[in-house]
Amino acid sequence: MRYCPLCHRLTAGDPLFCSHCGTTYDAKLCPSRHINPRQADVCSQCGSRDLSTPAPRMPLWLRPVVLAVSLLPGVILALLLVLVAIAMLQALATNGQVQGQLIVLFLILALLWWIYIHLPKFIQKALRSIWPSKKQDRH
Ligand SMILES: [Zn+2]
Ligand SMILES: [Zn+2]
Repeated sequence: MRYCPLCHRLTAGDPLFCSHCGTTYDAKLCPSRHINPRQADVCSQCGSRDLSTPAPRMPLWLRPVVLAVSLLPGVILALLLVLVAIAMLQALATNGQVQGQLIVLFLILALLWWIYIHLPKFIQKALRSIWPSKKQDRH
């Protein structure tokens, strides 16, 4: 997930372009998708001057906020998974058997965790198949 400092929207996965306004993040890309630093005027690999427009630099104070927001669901899920696992172990230690609800809860959380890890790419692929990318239109 990447935050676009220009249009203030998020694009799922690890995109090269903002899927809303078409700018590149902290780099300039030539038509062959070579990645160049934002201060480059010419592509260092193919010599093309047709470089993409990078979004403005993200304000320094915003970086930890964006990172926290994108990591938060994963952190909460991981904490819940650990808590349920501990509850399961405690139930095992006291009763000698784990209650059904705990196992179900654990499986649901594990599934959510799996979805959380895989979702951005799923969304990206789904969106790409619905709306063909128009990235190349912008130069
Ligand atoms: Zn954007
Ligand atoms: Zn190039």
